[in-house]
Amino acid sequence: MPTHPALVALQEQLTGTLLLPDDVDYETARRPWNLAIEQRPAAVAAPADVDDLRMLLDAARRSGLRLAVQPRGHGASGDLSGAVLVRMHAFDALEIDAERGVLTVGAGVRWGRVVDALEGSGWVAPAGTSPVVSVAGYTVGGGHSWFSRTAGLGSDNLRAAWVLRTDGTHERVDDAADPDLLWALRGAGGLVGIVTALEIELVPAPDVWGANLTFDVADAPAVVRAVRDLAASAPSTLNVFVNSMRMPDAPQLPEEIRGRSFLTVQALSVDGPQEALIDAVRRAGGVRRDVTGPTSPAALAAASNEPTDPTPSRGASMALTVLDDATIDALLDFRELPEQWPLMGIDIRMLGGALDAPRRSGFASLESAGWLLHALAPVIPGVPTEPGDASLEAFRELLRPDEAAQTVTTFLEPGQTLDRCGSADDIARLRELRARFDPERVLHDGRLPG
Ligand SMILES: Cc1cc2nc3c(=O)[nH]c(=O)nc-3n(C[C@H](O)[C@H](O)[C@H](O)COP(=O)(O)OP(=O)(O)OC[C@H]3O[C@@H](n4cnc5c(N)ncnc54)[C@H](O)[C@@H]3O)c2cc1C
Repeated sequence: MPTHPALVALQEQLTGTLLLPDDVDYETARRPWNLAIEQRPAAVAAPADVDDLRMLLDAARRSGLRLAVQPRGHGASGDLSGAVLVRMHAFDALEIDAERGVLTVGAGVRWGRVVDALEGSGWVAPAGTSPVVSVAGYTVGGGHSWFSRTAGLGSDNLRAAWVLRTDGTHERVDDAADPDLLWALRGAGGLVGIVTALEIELVPAPDVWGANLTFDVADAPAVVRAVRDLAASAPSTLNVFVNSMRMPDAPQLPEEIRGRSFLTVQALSVDGPQEALIDAVRRAGGVRRDVTGPTSPAALAAASNEPTDPTPSRGASMALTVLDDATIDALLDFRELPEQWPLMGIDIRMLGGALDAPRRSGFASLESAGWLLHALAPVIPGVPTEPGDASLEAFRELLRPDEAAQTVTTFLEPGQTLDRCGSADDIARLRELRARFDPERVLHDGRLPG
């Protein structure tokens, strides 16, 4: 497709950069963080400031292209033909008001920088497990955090946003000024405007304590049941993640983990030790490794081994209403079947607590769910992807009977749309807001169902 003259002119006008398909750096710049997703936008822009963004809006309007803001592309979903991809690196301001517990952060800032800046402050961020995800992409997609039982979804902590509306107005918007805009920004992505900065409520965490318990796979059924039972009595200050790992039988791995399966339970409290509460989990199996004591989000991020470089990956996620004995047994048996080798990790996150009582009105909600599950099937160069796809599909099938009515946008898989995250009324409201806030449709439709 020939490049539109409005884009060629824009290359000269912007203070930042605009790469077209013929430019040498285009191939690298167009790639999302998840390298398994192919996207070929009409151009890749890195605006330097709000004036650049206004010029981009104008050029999009004149050329019939759409702007797709994608700070990092962890959540890249696919087709971007006819779109200008907008990277937000230049919006890098970071300010912490430790008196009020408020974070003000530019739309290009990643969580890792915030987490490091908060170390030792008595506050933690409502951040996810990946330090390289942008605060903006995570928050406008809902965002489930280490601390979501304590503080709700990331989006529930969004107090205000600086938004460039499609008419060129740039302003700080809060619930008093424009509740509809904030409702959409809390979880539906960038359908209603371009966020340049966010104001986020931090989570008071005077005494961060963690227990990281590793069990043999043989103990997994009893341990997962104990975690499930703990959900009924756990206070919202306690957050619990379970991870079931099955390591490939690969010669490059250390002997003690090569070809082995194990289960870890990670409990995190913001107000000190919770030994008595997790004792039942500890007693449910033989603990092979026990790391318990004071911790911090930076230590958690370092220990979590999340990939920090762009990687090809595939996964399947599902929010469940309940985790009953039959599902626990079926899931654990299933993942040990020889043909399910592509499923390296399965996460089980305990929901409830503050997630059941959102403080702010937003599209994203996990109120209908009790558990959030994610399975990871890494893409290994030279290894066929079909077995992994089949395993992920079997994982979805197994869990489907207990699927909750809603999940959260940051846990959608490529190609999945927002109707998995909201009711028909929510989607109708999004359409109505989109027509109001972006009548000329210069912003990309994102994950709005077609
Ligand atoms: C290793 C890994 C771990 C993860 N862990 C978690 C986790 O613990 N919890 C969780 O909830 N998610 C998690 N995720 C998912 C991740 O939070 C989402 O994919 C998130 O959207 C990624 O942020 P990003 O900066 O890459 O956003 P992108 O994928 O670049 O953007 C996502 C969408 O956000 C919107 N958007 C972003 N910035 C703006 C803006 N400035 N203005 C308007 N709209 C905007 C756009 O609609 C865009 O399409 C994880 C992902 C990975 C790869």
